[in-house]
Parts: sequence; structure tokens; C-alpha cells
Amino acid sequence: MNIIPLPNSYRNLPGFFFVTENITINYSQELKPTADMLCLFLEKTTGIKPKQSQYAMINLSLDFSLEYEQYQLFVDTLSIHLAARTNHGAFYGLQTLKQLLTLKDGRHRINCTFIDDRPRFSYRGFMLDVARHFFPKNEIFRLIDLISFHKFNVLHLHLTDDQGWRIESELYPRLTEIGSKRNRTSSRKRKTQDIPHQGFYTKQDLKEIVAYAKSRHIEVIPEIDMPGHMNALIAAYPQTSCLKKEIEVRGSFGISDITLCPGNMDVYQMLTEIIIEIIDIFESPYFHLGGDEVPKKHWKKCPLCQKMIKDNNLKGENGLATYFLNYFGELLKAHNKIPIIWNDGVDSDTAADTVIQHWKPFTRKKTVKEINHGRKAIISDFLYLYLDYPYSMTPLRKTYQFEPIDKNIRNKENILGVEAPLWTEWVPNQYKLDYQIFPRLAAVAEIAWTEKYNKSYEHFINRLDSFYDYYRRMRVNYAQGKEFPPNIIKRCFNVLLWLRDENNELQKKK
Ligand SMILES: [Zn+2]
Repeated sequence: MNIIPLPNSYRNLPGFFFVTENITINYSQELKPTADMLCLFLEKTTGIKPKQSQYAMINLSLDFSLEYEQYQLFVDTLSIHLAARTNHGAFYGLQTLKQLLTLKDGRHRINCTFIDDRPRFSYRGFMLDVARHFFPKNEIFRLIDLISFHKFNVLHLHLTDDQGWRIESELYPRLTEIGSKRNRTSSRKRKTQDIPHQGFYTKQDLKEIVAYAKSRHIEVIPEIDMPGHMNALIAAYPQTSCLKKEIEVRGSFGISDITLCPGNMDVYQMLTEIIIEIIDIFESPYFHLGGDEVPKKHWKKCPLCQKMIKDNNLKGENGLATYFLNYFGELLKAHNKIPIIWNDGVDSDTAADTVIQHWKPFTRKKTVKEINHGRKAIISDFLYLYLDYPYSMTPLRKTYQFEPIDKNIRNKENILGVEAPLWTEWVPNQYKLDYQIFPRLAAVAEIAWTEKYNKSYEHFINRLDSFYDYYRRMRVNYAQGKEFPPNIIKRCFNVLLWLRDENNELQKKK
């Protein structure tokens, strides 16, 4: 069975179904979108377009006994039957079928098989940071095709950060006039970095991205990272920080100690207006508020922040951060959205229905406690699931073998699923983007989709061989030869290189 992610139940059968000139298709009207995609795929791949017929060789039918994302695929030498409860499930059956189709001796054929498949987790996410490096909407479309092929169903867009604001706003036009452009960009090769960078999505772009993703059964979760990681907004509107001084959109990476002022009611007003301006573009029930890496140095000396702490009887600056994030959590809930916050922004006073996105392995105990107290979670441990890490630090096997459900978690249903983020500080173009993501995303796909008891790394790398054919066909610049960890010398060298870059960033910060 050469499928990634591996189906959860299957039986290989003898023989092949051959795609011939007289191939026919029939489908339930509800599954027409998937049937159309299947016809288009067959036409593009084999040159043969199936004709519609009542007694057809390919049949797509509804089966309400199946679960929402489940599909059953039965292939014998004469016919193909794909059954699903929804288009969503049928779409995954189609992705499987795409992988089953092979070319041998000039003939397109599909292995006879019976597959009954559904995902382990309902949340299977990929995150792209478009703030550090902007990627235009066509690139996002391409990625949506690729991640849906891996049966992911969430695209989380990290839309704002110190290095760029990427969302059009009519109410606050300086966000893109000033905030979407920077004059400098850190570079690993040169110390001086006068490389300007800019870009943003219009509301129309975002609507197109959401619609394109929806047609591939992917929901788009927007993130406005606050109250830290906000230098781009502050560069556009300097009154929003505690210091109220002019700053640039940040050219170097690492954490800035300049944040929004959570003591200033005008900041609450402005962010409320921005969120309301864009919230309806996105159909996902989730909205990400960031909340990570918030230096509170300036809050300690800021009269507004200190007054806010006193007036609301908050537990110091940490309490103020939670108060700020809870405020926007309430706003989101009033608009029927569920807030998500990175785990370092969550504490026991964070509203109970806020979802925690766990990324820091060293604070796992605290996250487990939150989950055991009923909080829902998305798992993104950076040592395993961050796609920007070099393969020498996070080789394929390490990612593959990651198990998202900690043995100390009592209520496993609180784990919504997993998400693999790609932070793009050192990812300036599509070439590097592909290299970092693939094939590591295939390993993450198997964590998210395939039941633990069905997983085997050796089996996975055997299947990866034929999966690479699809990458080549789709012109994906995947990282080759990363199936086995690098030798220790190369590994140490790469880790040192990585540490040097991180250290350079820290020095610049000082
Ligand atoms: Zn302040």
C-alpha cells in the first residue's frame, strides 16, 4: 500500500483496474464537486476524460453510515466505488486514488484494493508565517493544493509580526502604507542587510484564498499576533506602544521588547476595529490571537499599564497580558469565533474556552495541566513539528516518531490535533519553502491522520519513494536524502551554524 498518510484500514487485492478510452463515471449530485475534480485529474494525467453514464465503471455514492471525513474505496478489475458521507470524505478518497494510479508499460492502472479510512485527528494544520517573508496569493494557492494532497484541513496564516503587517485595512491605511514594508532584512550571508521587503493581501486576495481553500476542504485561520510581535503596527501608529516613540518596521529577527500598551484604551479600540473589519472574511470557527513571547519590560514603567493593573486588581504584568488577551477573546466569542493562543500566553486565568496551541516542549507540564482541566489543545512541539528547523536538528525520523498525546493527559478528546508551523525568517523564496516543508510534511500528515498502531517509520520511508514521484510531477523542490539522520559531524556543524545565527539575533537585540 503506497499511500501517505497510510490509510487506517485496507486490504490489497489481486489485479488491476486499467484506465481505458471508454471509461465512464456516475455520481450522487451531492458529490459532483469531487467527481469533477476526479475527471479533471484523470484527463490531465492520462489524457482520457470519463463520460457520464448511468451504469458506470467509476461510482461515487453517498453513505450516511460513514463519518464526516471518512471514505471507503473499493477497486476491482472492472470498477471503482468511492463512498462517503460528505464531499469532504470523498475528497480524501480522491487524494488516495490519485496516489494509487500508476503508469506501467504505457498503461495507467490502479491496484485492486479495499480501503476504509478516516483520520485520527479532526484538526490537521499547517501554519505559514507570511510576516517575516511575504508570499503572494498564487503561492498560497499552490500550497493549499499540496497540503490538501496530504489530507490536511487547516491553513493557519500568521499574518502580522514585527517584520510586516500583511492585511489591508481601510480604517487604518497606514498599516499597509507603512507596516507592510521594511527597509532591511537579516541575511545569513551578509552582516549588513539593506534588502527591502514588502507585501500584503487585499481583502479580495484573502477572500480568494479562503474560497480556494474551502474548495479543497481546508479552513483558513487568521492570526493577528498581540500584544508582542507588533512592531509593524507600532511603526504605523507609534501611539500604540508604552513608549509612544517612532520605530521602524523591524529588519532583524528575534524578539523585540517594544509591544503594544495594554494600559491604553485606544489600543483596545483600534484592535477591536481591525478585527471586526476582517473577521467575516474567514469562515473558520477559530481566530488566532498570538499571545507568545511578550517582553513586559516597558509595562513596568508605563503609568497607563500600572494604572490598568491597579484598577482591575490584576496579578502584575502577567495578569495584564492575560486581561488583554481575554478582552479580545470575548470580542471573538461575541462574533462566534473561538480564540487560539500560543501556550506561553495562556495561564490559569485565561478564559476556559480559549484553545491552547502548545509549542514549547519545556513547558509541557503546564500545558498538560490546562488540558486535564478541560482546555482544548493543538499540539505543535517545536523540536518535532517546526518545519523551519534544519533537517540536521529535526530529521525526518524524529518528526515521524512524534506522539502528540502525552501519557499524562487524562482526557484525550481535548487534543484537537496537530499543526506544523513554518516560520519564514530564513525562508525568502519558494525554493527554500519547499525544501523546509517537504517531505517533512508527509511525516506530519501521518502523525495527524494515521492511528498510532498503524505507524512504522521503515514502512513510511518505503512508501515515500513513490510519493517523491508526485513531488517531482508537482515540481516540488523537496529535500532529498533526509530519510536517515545525518552523520554526527555534519549534525554538530549544522547545530553550531544555527546557534550562531540565533546568537547573532540576540546580540542585535541588545
Ligand atoms: Zn503601557
